[in-house]
Amino acid sequence: MNFRGLDDLGDVHGKVALVRVDLNLPMRDGDVTDTTRIRAAAPTILELSEKGAKVLLLAHFGRPGGERSSTLSLSMVVGAVEAVIGKEVMFIPEISGDVAKQAIGILRAGDVGILENTRFWKGEEANDPEFAAAIADIGDLYVNDAFSAAHRAHATTEGLAKLLPAYAGRSMQAELEALDKALGQPEKPVAAVVGGAKVSSKLDVLHHLVGQVDHLIIGGGMANTFLAAKGVNVGKSLCEHDLADTANKILAAADASDCTVHLPYDVMVAKEFAANPASLRSCNVHEVKADEMILDVAPAAVEALADVLKTCRTLVWNGPLGAFETEPFDAATVALARTAAALTREGSLVCVAGGGDTVAALNHAGVADDFTYISTAGGAFLEWMEGKELPGVAALSG
Ligand code: ADP
Ligand code: MG
Repeated sequence: MNFRGLDDLGDVHGKVALVRVDLNLPMRDGDVTDTTRIRAAAPTILELSEKGAKVLLLAHFGRPGGERSSTLSLSMVVGAVEAVIGKEVMFIPEISGDVAKQAIGILRAGDVGILENTRFWKGEEANDPEFAAAIADIGDLYVNDAFSAAHRAHATTEGLAKLLPAYAGRSMQAELEALDKALGQPEKPVAAVVGGAKVSSKLDVLHHLVGQVDHLIIGGGMANTFLAAKGVNVGKSLCEHDLADTANKILAAADASDCTVHLPYDVMVAKEFAANPASLRSCNVHEVKADEMILDVAPAAVEALADVLKTCRTLVWNGPLGAFETEPFDAATVALARTAAALTREGSLVCVAGGGDTVAALNHAGVADDFTYISTAGGAFLEWMEGKELPGVAALSG
């Protein structure tokens, strides 16, 4: 991996740094409800500010579809950004041109500003070179600190990097280094946990991983599809029966590349999907009744998976092992996550995880601080797990 980071910056005093960040914040009634993404960008913003740059934040917010929208203006997040970074922030209702230049003229070295929602202009998502050039015209250098947007080749995630000296921010750098340790150049043996609802949403992930890892642990609803493909009767479990051929091809590909696939052999089943249902029981996968559904991996099988992790040096995890939002179907995910956390604390495992529901499940398990890295990047994390080159990252290494 080869990219320039903030350590490679020369003297930036008085220079205008255009910094792409993720400010696509959850809001309720006009208030920001979660500042995680601002906190992720804060070290980069403050470092550039301390070095005397004029720091101009670029970000998208929602889906305005290339038109101005009063309800999607980034002016709404200014207060939350100020609260997190502890500095005043100027809002600039443009992204290029004379108004933006005049505003930048007012800023002093070390000041911070936010430019308007990049998606108010059609050129952003179209990655229009003229649009990117107009933005580049107001800046001296470009810093990308938004890994979560790096799977999109947009003007402010990719185009700008080709027009100005481009650097990875601290948060981007941390993410790239963690991902590289997990799948780029991992210490072997490597295990992957892939769970979640459906095989269909993660086909490319599975195809890529079988060629990369030594152990592939499949859980969640998608394990049911694999079990069914192997002739197991999964009752009324969530299952994509039409993907049996695909599942078998993935198993064959794993076999061909010496990747051991671990499917649950003991499962938690119930007749109705509810919290602590009366019909709850554990059984061997071959004993699931026609009116039952598999909702989690059972304790004995989780212990076998924990033993697999104990032999590994690297783990990459996406997707819960069961329907973790409903008790007690969080048990397998929580138990295996705690094993992974303990091994990571001991220093025997590098453990990287990501995915919307996965992050929620790992927070629920209380292991977030013990994992080596937890990516909140969603789509970009999955595309990275598919082995794809992310345009926003590639542009930084060019
Ligand atoms: P992520 O967002 O981390 O990529 P997914 O969206 O693929 O994860 O999957 C998460 C969902 O999978 C959760 O809502 C969970 O309830 C569901 N799930 C996991 N196991 C099962 C199962 N056995 N039956 C039904 N749903 C399941
Ligand atoms: Mg999800």
